Amino acid sequence: MSALFPTYARSDLAFARGEGAFLYTASGDRYLDFGSGVAVTALGHAHPHLVDALTSQARKLWHVSNLHRIPEQERLAERLCAASFADRVFFANSGAEAVECSIKAARRYHFKNGAPERYRLVTFEGAFHGRTLATIAAGGQAKHLEGFGPKVDGFDQVGVFDIEAVEAAIGEETAGILIEPILGEGGMREVSWRFLQDLRALADEKGILLLFDEVQTGMGRTGRLFAHEWAGMTPDIMAVAKGLGGGFPVGACLTTEVVGEAMTAGSHGSTFGGNPLAMAVGNAVLDVMLADGFLDRVAQMGLRLKQRLAALKDEHPDIIEEVRGQGLMLGLKCKVPNQKLLEALRAEKMLTVQAGDNVVRLLPPLIIGEAEIELAAAKLEAACAALAKVSAPA
Ligand code: PLP
Repeated sequence: MSALFPTYARSDLAFARGEGAFLYTASGDRYLDFGSGVAVTALGHAHPHLVDALTSQARKLWHVSNLHRIPEQERLAERLCAASFADRVFFANSGAEAVECSIKAARRYHFKNGAPERYRLVTFEGAFHGRTLATIAAGGQAKHLEGFGPKVDGFDQVGVFDIEAVEAAIGEETAGILIEPILGEGGMREVSWRFLQDLRALADEKGILLLFDEVQTGMGRTGRLFAHEWAGMTPDIMAVAKGLGGGFPVGACLTTEVVGEAMTAGSHGSTFGGNPLAMAVGNAVLDVMLADGFLDRVAQMGLRLKQRLAALKDEHPDIIEEVRGQGLMLGLKCKVPNQKLLEALRAEKMLTVQAGDNVVRLLPPLIIGEAEIELAAAKLEAACAALAKVSAPA
């Protein structure tokens, strides 16, 4: 019996070390990691530049709290702003906290601008924004809300990516619209870039804010630093996390100047958020991701992997129904239960992640090359062949 909360459906695997796109068990079994700890280890395991940044910071200073200036934090904030629409950043420790801060910033912006009644956000069915009380309310999924008392007020869910439905959900109390540019946990459901542009126009027309949850889509995952760049538009507020720390816990809420300004002294805070260790790693992640050609290569590898997945779907139409996603954030909508494909892949020593809508997610580290893609394609083929054999009539 474990002393842990039974909150997770864990596999029996335990890993002793990792290197690049591979994880190794204590007995030396090697697994191809196309899950990246749910889109976190964006630069693979034990990336030398990240290891150096963390260990050299660990020898100098771990934590001082936000009662003092943290130069590494100021530097990372400036670099994130220079690389995005944002002017201000708040650092947190996780994706949920980054979204929570985004929700608070949207409410606070209207409060400071004489419209305190504007506190509600329009959100979307199938979304996932984290596990705090506010973020489960934003996600609106019954299985996440059950047993946790009254749902936090202030979220109006729309069932379809339809601009008229969004407009109908906007009222006098609406502060903004919150959406993931690609619904990750919800099954790698792509939102059209056109829809994001329409949301921007609608938010402007109504004088409300556009909030993006780029916790999963951000930090290079789609082949741009942030997924919304593909749509050629920007939000007012954006939550990021996961890849930002490459495996070190960190989250951030990025905003425009007017929104960030509303978060005055004492209005929000975090003891650990933005501590020197997290900031050293975050800066090291940016060194790699912002280097010439890195993101273009992610996009190229994404296309290559997607082509291989499309061929696999043609080969196994009884197992794979659809290939979804962008860059190295790809999903296989399954015809068999997704857990079956995930297990068949695990038997081939390849790790993936389940998602809603019967999807298996492929979230490899962004440093993969052709060799890892070929290896993944071979393992996918073997897993599908094994499943086809099981389900074939005798
Ligand atoms: N938002 C999105 C889009 C996510 O995918 C996740 C986690 O999977 C979160 C928020 C929550 O992040 P965390 O688990 O770090 O709190």
